[in-house]
Amino acid sequence: MSSGGFASQNGAGGSYTNGPSQNPVGVYPSNQSFMAPPLPGYMNSLPTKGPPPAGPSCYSGNRHQPSPVGTPGALPASPSHRMGPPQASATPPPPSSYSQHPQQPSSWSGVTPAPAGNHVSPAPYASGTSTPPVFQNTMQPPAALQHAPPALNVMAPHQPYGPPPAFGPPAAMRGTPPPPVPPPTAVPPPPLAPHSEAGLYLAQPAQMNRPTGSSYPSLQPAYHSPPAPAPQQQQHYPQPSVSAAQLSPSLAAMSLQSQPPEALRVVNLLQERSLLPAGAVTPPAPCLPQDLQKLNCSPEVFRCTLTSIPQTQSLLNKAKLPLGLLLHPFKDLSLPVVTSSNIVRCRSCRTYINPFVSFVDARRWKCNLCHRVNDVPEEFMYNPVSRSYGAPHKRPEVQNATIEFIAPSEYMLRPPQPAVYLFVLDVSHNAVETGYLDVVCQSLLDNLDSLPGDTRTKIGFITFDSTIHFYNLQEGLSQPQMLIVSDIDDVFLPTPDSLLVNLNECRELVQDLLASLPQMFSRTMETQSGLGPALQAAFKLLSPTGGRMSVFQTQLPTVGIGALKPREEPNQRAPAKDVQNLSPATDFYKKLALDCSGHHVAVDLFLLSAQYCDLSSLGCISRYSAGSVYFYPSYHKQHNPSQTERFQKDLKRYLTRKIGFEAVMRIRCTKGLSMHTFHGNFFVRSTDLLSLANVNPDAGFAVQMSIEENLLDLQVVSFQAALLYTSSKGERRIRVHTLCLPVVNSLSDIFAGADVQAITALLASMAVDRSVTASLGDARDALINAAIDTLASYRSSVLSVQQPGLLAPACLRLFPLYILALLKHKAFRTSAGTRLDERVFAMCQLKCQPLAYLMLMVHPSLYRVDNLSDEGALNVSDRTIPQPRALQLSVEKLNRDAAFLMDCGTVMYLWIGRNCNPVFLTQVLGVDSYAAVPLNMNQLPELDTAESSRIRALIDWLRERRPFHPVLHIIRDESPLKADFMQNMIEDLSESALSYYEFLLHLQQQICK
Ligand SMILES: [Zn+2]
Repeated sequence: MSSGGFASQNGAGGSYTNGPSQNPVGVYPSNQSFMAPPLPGYMNSLPTKGPPPAGPSCYSGNRHQPSPVGTPGALPASPSHRMGPPQASATPPPPSSYSQHPQQPSSWSGVTPAPAGNHVSPAPYASGTSTPPVFQNTMQPPAALQHAPPALNVMAPHQPYGPPPAFGPPAAMRGTPPPPVPPPTAVPPPPLAPHSEAGLYLAQPAQMNRPTGSSYPSLQPAYHSPPAPAPQQQQHYPQPSVSAAQLSPSLAAMSLQSQPPEALRVVNLLQERSLLPAGAVTPPAPCLPQDLQKLNCSPEVFRCTLTSIPQTQSLLNKAKLPLGLLLHPFKDLSLPVVTSSNIVRCRSCRTYINPFVSFVDARRWKCNLCHRVNDVPEEFMYNPVSRSYGAPHKRPEVQNATIEFIAPSEYMLRPPQPAVYLFVLDVSHNAVETGYLDVVCQSLLDNLDSLPGDTRTKIGFITFDSTIHFYNLQEGLSQPQMLIVSDIDDVFLPTPDSLLVNLNECRELVQDLLASLPQMFSRTMETQSGLGPALQAAFKLLSPTGGRMSVFQTQLPTVGIGALKPREEPNQRAPAKDVQNLSPATDFYKKLALDCSGHHVAVDLFLLSAQYCDLSSLGCISRYSAGSVYFYPSYHKQHNPSQTERFQKDLKRYLTRKIGFEAVMRIRCTKGLSMHTFHGNFFVRSTDLLSLANVNPDAGFAVQMSIEENLLDLQVVSFQAALLYTSSKGERRIRVHTLCLPVVNSLSDIFAGADVQAITALLASMAVDRSVTASLGDARDALINAAIDTLASYRSSVLSVQQPGLLAPACLRLFPLYILALLKHKAFRTSAGTRLDERVFAMCQLKCQPLAYLMLMVHPSLYRVDNLSDEGALNVSDRTIPQPRALQLSVEKLNRDAAFLMDCGTVMYLWIGRNCNPVFLTQVLGVDSYAAVPLNMNQLPELDTAESSRIRALIDWLRERRPFHPVLHIIRDESPLKADFMQNMIEDLSESALSYYEFLLHLQQQICK
């Protein structure tokens, strides 16, 4: 890796951010907010538009005081059919199921339950099995093919489409002269070798050489006038019914006509209070012709903050909206898999052929990113789905915006690595005291058979306190051998060949070790923690193969390299505009992470601690190696049973979920657009190549973009993310997602396509970077300015008739609410009592969570649940799931006669009103009075009543739809956790933050200045 890459995208000098320090110099006018500068480097600005000082004195009039709990008849919860956030696909259908059509976009449509059948989730290989069974129909004779499912509509979604059969085209086709092939390009094409996603496997550096099709000066842009095929060609090579080639000049007109008027409906936020939709907030659909939109990538996987792309950077600047992509690239989902010895890519920019290319004729296709015209290879003329020749546009690659290829050998420079898992466990006195070791060992014993992998899978263990303990698990030993290395200043591997062993061959020794490990240290008095040396040892062990390192840590590392000192001072918990120590204390963890990344080792960190652990330093080990961070504050097996439950459930998911090894992801976009800042856990190897030592299905990414060249001639632009990885079965695979969006030239079109959730998520990531590189206060100001600038721009540039009030287009009506929610989020709030590690963890979550889960953490959902009914309920796998309406997050909505469920993503609260209906108390909670509700209740009893089944069905369903386990706290007014519950009442005034109404008044005041 070059030091240049290191210093740019991965944080320059002392600042350890993946983000904005690519252009570290950049002082912008003081009132600039996040999206104003055309280039990154928005840090260092000192916004003048800050919020007014909090407190009752600043708004004497118009005070909006939350009414006390108990407003009678606050709001009847009218159940309605809800469309929820995406599912976590916990229950994959059996792999033999053929019921899910591979090309049916319905499974991605955002409507959770599949309309037909009982499949809750279409994911064929969610947890456990890391790759679907592969049906290799490579070069099979026709007879063999007869055994395959014959027709497209019954083909298994995950069954790879193979290459053409060896016998070649049918005789009739052989007689047909191929259509004229264009002369070879004047410029010699770049060699085919640099499959740029291959990353370290590159034979030569990837080039982003994007000639603009100059060798074909006579060709019109295909969007404008696709050449009509000759009659004979039409007979043999019918043009696709749906393709970018079909796009006519009327596209722009279409996009204007089909614009939903609702998106631009003017909303006066000061008057309209009920802004939440009855169901989930759904992403806007890009204004594309329906045929094209039908093929587009699912917004759950790939979406843009603006579903209509501005033609120029100056137009984007005027809108004051951030431009960026949000990705969930390795999400568990059902997708077509293609086996091909020749993956068709643009010879100039290496874009994979996709539904948005255009076919100039049957033998040539035009790249939608760089516009070069490429030949269609002979092999591509065969369609493995219909098993016919001559319809390249019907190939699965051209019919699916999300597709996976099984890569041929040129996509690897070494044999695909086996699945390798190394567990690094803290066994100091503090660690043993928490009781976490029993949970980890038991969970591993329970899930040993479900670890993704094959016969090559390897496993190993290291434990550490002030010394490092290795375990010889070599086949033939009668029991595991513990080897202690006490020289932590110069760590070495005592028996390098027997510490990582084949799981199949050494299973019994592994099981022995796991059964005895918790007892081995039960009497330890060793309080020191040498985490740094243990990590060094683990890196030495894993570096020859690559793999996954799972680190469990319960305290601040105290000895050896990487030792840390407490940096959280008690007075820092007081309300303060600025919080210190958000950046790491040492670069040890980052440097080691980069070494890991270079050797395909990802480090996942589980932090279980009651004390300050300096997550901002420790977290670097995962951040730059593309690992995950899990945090269980105040973990204790006995004292904190709900944390233990969450830890157990999370571990099960962690151990059994899909994993990709030695991965790289490249994101390409149409020429003219440029990506500049990435968010998530990875190492940026070159401008658009992210190195992911491991990739997991729960990781989200974001990228900021700018418009470098005007998109004047284009009606659509495309974005393509290609993720190359090694499956746990040792296959090299490439998952490709392509998103197509229209280009517009008016501000009202840009606003109409604004995706408020994606914008919020991108701003949140940007604000995390700003908190670290500048200050928390600066980040908060920038968030507020984002809302001010956007609404001011809308008011001055889009609204034709000026009216009083704080006005927003309907599509952005939730924007100020979400910004306020971010300001009150653990990551950015200024109130007392936020521990530094919890704040840093909240920031990590904002950068790495896929959008759907992130939004719940930012703006929880509140439902009334004491009167659930089956009206409007969903039916999923023979279960009836009630769908209560989401309520505003205000105590005004609470009612003492009722009970409410608040879903905050990683935690849920069931609040019981003091006068709650006795039927609910007996039928759901199993108690006969309010006073009998226990103060620390975490489970709903399984009572055989309709009320009990309804609410349990709802909670189970909400839990299934995410990859982590939210604990449930049943609380009443006297419960210690009531304050936490109330802190999520975002619309209400709090000790240190404005109410929603006050916040709106502040925005209005700034806009009308
Ligand atoms: Zn290209």
